[in-house]
Amino acid sequence: MRIILFGPPGAGKGTQAVKLAERLKVPHISTGDILRRNVAKRTKLGQLAQKYMAAGKLVPDDVVIEMTAKRLKEPDAKQGFILDGFPRDLQQAKALDKLTEIDLVINLFLDPEDLVKRSTGRRVCPNCDAVYHFLTNPPKKRDICDNCGSALIQREDDKEDVVRTRIATYDEITAPLVAHYKGKGILRDVYASGHIVEVQHRILEVLPK
Ligand code: ADP
Ligand code: AMP
Repeated sequence: MRIILFGPPGAGKGTQAVKLAERLKVPHISTGDILRRNVAKRTKLGQLAQKYMAAGKLVPDDVVIEMTAKRLKEPDAKQGFILDGFPRDLQQAKALDKLTEIDLVINLFLDPEDLVKRSTGRRVCPNCDAVYHFLTNPPKKRDICDNCGSALIQREDDKEDVVRTRIATYDEITAPLVAHYKGKGILRDVYASGHIVEVQHRILEVLPK
């Protein structure tokens, strides 16, 4: 299955994508993770992307589209994928339409103040990209990744002012894509409030039987 996990920053896309990818045995492709790895390695792409990401703005379409197209062509994505963080505007959605067919768009939605709480409390593993929340989804050992033992960090763009800019960017530029996918008849809304397992069950309910 080729699935897009759609929704505002902090809705829980990455958290749910990891679980769904395991279940469906397809890769989880997060454009945010790919960009952050490039920033950490100081590649040309990372150096270009960094200032946009730090400000909560979208990285320019041409580079993100090229990066995602390359990733989707890798052999592990042939049988399907969970795409998280792409597309984020109409130009990206149209580029994706040309690259591949999408079977399902899962649209996570949540109250804006809950989005802020989730993002500002997020802690991530810089080594394996695992995601935690210091209150609602803590690691077993404080600030240590359960998977690989690395020290967790707070993302630079998870400070409250940048989080609010990212939510505004989503509302203005990304949310209109809901109409694009509704028009194709492949969008399913899923309320993202409640425990992670509860949200997971709601997602499983919208998968084709
Ligand atoms: P996104 O990928 O949409 O930005 P994440 O999956 O990174 O969102 O989740 C944002 C934050 O909220 C993380 O700190 C994560 O641990 C936490 N989180 C995710 N789902 C839930 C949930 N259902 N209840 C509480 N916290 C959650
Ligand atoms: P995310 O990990 O999805 O929260 O993304 C973090 C940041 O990476 C975003 O705020 C953007 O700056 C950048 N980014 C990720 N995906 C895209 C995309 N599809 N288009 C443009 N910028 C992106």
